Amino acid sequence: MCRHLAWLGAPRTLSSLITEPEYGLLRQSYAPRQQRHGLLNADGWGVGFLDDTGTVRRWRSPRPLWNDASFASIAPVLSSGCVLAAVRSATVGMPPDETAAAPFTDGRWLFSHNGRVALDAVPTSSAAESIGDSAQLAAHIFDTGVEHLAETLAKVAAADPDARLTVLLTDGSRILGVAWDNELCYRQLPDGVVVASEPYDDERGWVSLADHHMIEVSDAGIMITDLESAN
Ligand code: GLN
Repeated sequence: MCRHLAWLGAPRTLSSLITEPEYGLLRQSYAPRQQRHGLLNADGWGVGFLDDTGTVRRWRSPRPLWNDASFASIAPVLSSGCVLAAVRSATVGMPPDETAAAPFTDGRWLFSHNGRVALDAVPTSSAAESIGDSAQLAAHIFDTGVEHLAETLAKVAAADPDARLTVLLTDGSRILGVAWDNELCYRQLPDGVVVASEPYDDERGWVSLADHHMIEVSDAGIMITDLESAN
């Protein structure tokens, strides 16, 4: 399955988040260290970030991240304080093109999904960017309102008990992350917080998010909620 990462804090270059870290998304695209489902993430990738005006900018590709030399060249000069990036291992039957690659967007929100979900467990949305399961899930979460993320995921999981629903969202003021049958961890740095599928280095400070838990990162700090006891 996929690997993803969100950053909220002081502006950082995309290269410092994606291509430079020893075990970052670039390395995770061909040699993830903690991935339980799938061996590599070669079915495209994407990054979205807010620019200085608060406008979402995206770069997505159906190619493996390691093949994107143009991005590697430009990443050191692109900076943002709100970034969401993902490398993709496509679920069987899902479209292979870039429209099915995260991040998906709605207004200032960026969304990525690590997992799979049956298409008939997610109400169809005309706003979905692709017929892929993650794009459908994104549109459904945007339609129902990000504030209801936990309830929406619980309903989708009730409709498809085999769904894996780990998600990451950010809009520049918050990161929301849910670990739901795929791993997620986070690390507080002096100038921001990173939430990711797996640590991008071996420094201290990475904390695993327990399964079926939600992390919310905002100006108020880091809040963790146990979704099982919340429901
Ligand atoms: N199901 C999604 C897709 O096909 C996400 C897959 C994943 O998490 N690897 O893109």
